[in-house]
Amino acid sequence: MDNVNYLNRPVAKLTGIGAQTGRRLEKLGIRIISDLVFHLPIRYEDRTRIYPIGALMAGMTALVCGRVEFIDILPRGRKSLICRISDDTGFISLKFFHFSANQHNTLKPGTLISCFAEVRHGFSGLEMVHPDYQVIANPEAYMTETRLTPVYPLTEGLSQTAIRKAVKQALSLCSDDPQLLADWIPDAILKKYAYPSLMQAIQTLHAPDESVSIAALQNGSVPALKRLAFEELLAHHLSLRKTKNQAKAWQAPVFVGDDAVARQFLTSLPFKLTGAQQRVIADIAADCRSQHPMMRLVQGDVGSGKTLVSAYAALLALTAGYQVAVMAPTELLVEQHNRNFCTWFAGFDTQIVYLTGQLKGNARKDVLQRLADGSAGIIIGTHALFQEGVNFHRLGLIIIDEQHRFGVHQRMALREKGQQAGLRPHQLVMTATPIPRTLAMLQYSDLDISIIDELPPGRKPIVTSVIPAERREAVIDRINHWVGQKRQVYWVCTLIEESEVLQCEAAEKTAELLTLALPNVRVALIHGRMKSADKDAVMQAFKNHQLDLLVATTVIEVGVDVPNAGLMIIENPERLGLSQLHQLRGRVGRGEDDSYCLLMYQSPLSDTARQRLGILRDSNDGFVIAEKDLELRGPGEVMGTRQTGAVHFKIADLARDADLLEVIQQTGEQLFTESPHAIQPLCDRWLGTSTDYAEV
Ligand code: ADP
Ligand code: MG
Repeated sequence: MDNVNYLNRPVAKLTGIGAQTGRRLEKLGIRIISDLVFHLPIRYEDRTRIYPIGALMAGMTALVCGRVEFIDILPRGRKSLICRISDDTGFISLKFFHFSANQHNTLKPGTLISCFAEVRHGFSGLEMVHPDYQVIANPEAYMTETRLTPVYPLTEGLSQTAIRKAVKQALSLCSDDPQLLADWIPDAILKKYAYPSLMQAIQTLHAPDESVSIAALQNGSVPALKRLAFEELLAHHLSLRKTKNQAKAWQAPVFVGDDAVARQFLTSLPFKLTGAQQRVIADIAADCRSQHPMMRLVQGDVGSGKTLVSAYAALLALTAGYQVAVMAPTELLVEQHNRNFCTWFAGFDTQIVYLTGQLKGNARKDVLQRLADGSAGIIIGTHALFQEGVNFHRLGLIIIDEQHRFGVHQRMALREKGQQAGLRPHQLVMTATPIPRTLAMLQYSDLDISIIDELPPGRKPIVTSVIPAERREAVIDRINHWVGQKRQVYWVCTLIEESEVLQCEAAEKTAELLTLALPNVRVALIHGRMKSADKDAVMQAFKNHQLDLLVATTVIEVGVDVPNAGLMIIENPERLGLSQLHQLRGRVGRGEDDSYCLLMYQSPLSDTARQRLGILRDSNDGFVIAEKDLELRGPGEVMGTRQTGAVHFKIADLARDADLLEVIQQTGEQLFTESPHAIQPLCDRWLGTSTDYAEV
């Protein structure tokens, strides 16, 4: 295949790279020649100037030139070769633990050599251990390097020399034939941001000349690096946008809506919609009237009333004669949605069924049957909705609650399930985890976004305090007092996420202790390992105020709704992310009375942890909290490892390159209109060809 770009060939095509080096490079993710081009140094060594020996200090890495004063083999302990060199300004010792007879011979007193290594304190003044050195036979002809020396990330068995050689070959291929490394960023954009061309950027980063400051290289502010990070972020954004454009080209059922039915639905509710809910409902209705699939994300703080908004979307689908699938991350949430939907749709002639992993045997068969024959209009379920055997009669709308718990692929997979007669279902996804706008562009560019930025009226802000676990007694008194006023309490036990078993055990123990400490309080326990029916019973009893204190693991993180519970104690909050804490805390503050959240930490608390908990104490706004969390911890953690959708970058670093996010979206638009041919190659370059979500 002669028309294959040479850079896409395996690295083994380069001279000096055999099977073994090839395997080692592969460990670094380097398979084809262009991978070498984009394998950037982690740091640089400055061999461009010679330091006076007298100016050296421990900790510096420097190039020096000097004459050998003496050389000696020290027999003490580990045999070593010691050699002292000096220039006009001072002397330094060189130390070798591995050496050859030849080395001993060439380093004769009087020989002029250059050395490069880190300087450290030794027995007799400063020393260099195993320096790179070179005998200077002809001082007139001696030249220092003209460019900084790149230091690449390595893997075992791979030397800097080997990888430098390989990269050099790859680069010289590029400079011989500039066509190989096409620059897909239009000149106008490069000019606008004063970015170098791709080739220049690559050259600069692998072999910076004297015009580049080593400090700028190290801290990532050099335009060459910014340009590559920009290109990579742009490619990620473009690939999501491309997915969105493709999806928007599909056909979807049209839900016209029926004003009389909508009125009946809304007037049957015990409350009036907030302005924000009305706005989002209007967005949704407009989406569903078009013959292309809705792909909408609704972001709204905990308690902002997202469920109702999704129920309205369901109403549109039902009115048009289509089925609705609602997917939620936990069984508890499924049960709660089920209750809400059953109440809200009581006056409508539709069957609501639910499906979780717990449902077995005939009950399950029955649900599947009703789905397949169309007698059930709404199905609410967990991941179980993906299972084989789940077939829809006429799926028209998919609702995904707490979307951050699902990956992009799961979202897509459910959509494929619903595809029939060339029509793809509409999709509504909801999240209470606010993503700062700039990050949303990278994570959710395939979706349109609506924000519910208003809470139902009458909600008072939750008063949050940060207290040490030593104050446990006082907290217990407070619970007693609180329960005496006929109000209810959550006590949340947190442990490290991985061990659900340990988490449940801790909660069991806490429940026992609290039962002993609070004889007049009705205490119950709820955790993730309980049977669904038992959880449901406990939750129902708590809701009915047959219980006062609910000890829980983080299973109650999402969605659970008991307005009379206005006090929450969270143990070890320092172990959780701010957004998760904010969600937990959102369980209180659902009624009209004051509500409180006590963050009871284990001392001592690190400075960052203290600051983070302080953010939570000072704000009740999920968006503000997410922004602050972003400043404090960097985007990786805000997006969270728990979030299956989090993106990994080769070069971009969201903390370092956050400034770029501002212009990515706008540049993306520009490319779609002015240089659409550049989009696919950019995505291929940075994401490979495997990430085409539309094909999932
Ligand atoms: P979230 O956005 O966190 O999913 P929910 O949908 O669970 O919030 O709503 C929280 C509570 O607010 C529920 O009890 C719901 O019935 C109630 N609610 C929703 N919309 C309104 C409204 N417009 N006015 C008053 N209460 C509302
Ligand atoms: Mg919810």
